[in-house]
Amino acid sequence: MGIGHWNRWRKNAQAACHEARPQRLRKQLDSVPRYRAHTVAMDETSQTGQVDKAAGKMKFACPTCGHSSRAIKAITARSLLTEAARAHLTNYDGFRFCPTDSCPLVYFRPEDGLRFGADSVRVTVFQKSECQDRLVCYCFDHSVLSINQEVKRDGSSSAIESITEKCRNGEDRCPETNPQGSCCLGNVRAVVKAAQE
Ligand SMILES: [Zn+2]
Repeated sequence: MGIGHWNRWRKNAQAACHEARPQRLRKQLDSVPRYRAHTVAMDETSQTGQVDKAAGKMKFACPTCGHSSRAIKAITARSLLTEAARAHLTNYDGFRFCPTDSCPLVYFRPEDGLRFGADSVRVTVFQKSECQDRLVCYCFDHSVLSINQEVKRDGSSSAIESITEKCRNGEDRCPETNPQGSCCLGNVRAVVKAAQE
């Protein structure tokens, strides 16, 4: 995958995000065939299989950027993939999430080589965008922007305490709402820290 191409797409997608015009974004995404055609990924299955065997512990490295990935639950793939992406799937097991911010791949499945980019995900993926409006906490709607504004106004953010409290009460649904399939607090802490610097 061409990182240069991805960076250009990402820049365009950010501009579209600020304008909140999904149609325009969709148009730009359509100009990037690799994110639409998971069939391309399937053609590469055998190649990926060979790499897996040779690399041993690199088995679960992202096939695009080579960095480590995280296992996600089936419910995460089922909840976060778009309808178009889901149309190709009969089950949602075995997917992994790539958290690398410079990598266009969001989900992949080592078993059959399936790959899904940001346009196959129903929400803007925190790690894969620089859009200020994007959510960092998907359960309770804290965006990067809302945290930045709070820190600017008060010097700190109540988001971490608020999220922790709600999680303690069992109100979180991270596997269904967060594209990474797990708790957002690490990312929220990083956003708060960056806002305070
Ligand atoms: Zn990656």
